Amino acid sequence: ESKRTGRDTWRFFETSMQRAIEQQEAKTQALRQALHEDRLVLRYLPQVDQEGQWCGYEALVRWNASGHELRRPDEFLKLAESSGLIQAIDDWVLQRACRDFADLTAHQPPSYLHLGVNVSIRQLLDTEFAERVMQTVLEAGLQPHHLRLEVTEQALFVDVEQAQAAIERLLSHGIAIVLDDFGTGSSSLLQLQRLSLQAVKIDQGLVRGIENSPTKVAIVRAAISAAKALSLAVIAEGVENEEQFQLLRAEGCSVFQGYYFAEPMPVEALSQHLSAPG
Ligand code: C2E
Ligand code: MG
Ligand code: MG
Ligand code: MG
Repeated sequence: ESKRTGRDTWRFFETSMQRAIEQQEAKTQALRQALHEDRLVLRYLPQVDQEGQWCGYEALVRWNASGHELRRPDEFLKLAESSGLIQAIDDWVLQRACRDFADLTAHQPPSYLHLGVNVSIRQLLDTEFAERVMQTVLEAGLQPHHLRLEVTEQALFVDVEQAQAAIERLLSHGIAIVLDDFGTGSSSLLQLQRLSLQAVKIDQGLVRGIENSPTKVAIVRAAISAAKALSLAVIAEGVENEEQFQLLRAEGCSVFQGYYFAEPMPVEALSQHLSAPG
């Protein structure tokens, strides 16, 4: 009796595991197809400076999957990474974002605007990546200094030495790297000091509720003073109200983004924002 139950239970696990694997494979296939059929789309999140003027925006990828709302990266980037699709996706995002940026700034001087693009660690460590970035930037008619590549803290600190070599390849072309999600990893100041970064981006987890949390204020203050000691600019993400904006500005952040200013939007909507600054 119990032997039989055991066998049935095992069979149940086997089939559900089998089904899970098949679902993963189907989803990977669908993602690959979406990439090739141009069904990935970009949304842009505007950024403002201390005066509240638009000073740039970050590109965020979405998957326009049939029968779904636009899927957010949390729903497919892990799969993209495990299946090796991530680099092709990152390349696509970079090309589309650079072209959009060029179109957007065709009739106005873009010197004060920055384009933030997220990059996976696999892409960053690819020794040919810096060359590809430069080709994309030049083909779009941009200057390297317009671009800010964002890499998450957790990814960057797996191998600091390799990461620094990759950052130097990009820097030699004038392309800056920003440490994304600062405060979520376990980077020490000593490690941070070994990387030639341009800026850190305070994670939204530290910004959420900061106006009611002396502890978070203290943590953010420490993070900012560490960044300043290393001559890094500080970007705040996930700003959702005026109090947070004022507080982070007073603490020394120089660039801000979040739903308080604008939500991620298609490029068409962005052009209206840029022509009527904050
Ligand atoms: P991230 O780079 O830290 O991007 C910020 C995320 O927070 C975005 O979510 C954005 O929509 C969301 N957000 C912005 N402002 C607010 C706010 O005020 N409140 C709240 N609650 N959320 C806010 P999204 O678009 O889902 O992106 C999630 C993550 O996926 C990104 O985090 C980034 O690490 C990654 N990602 C996005 N696009 C790409 C890409 O093209 N390539 C790669 N490799 N990763 C990407
Ligand atoms: Mg980012
Ligand atoms: Mg972030
Ligand atoms: Mg994040």
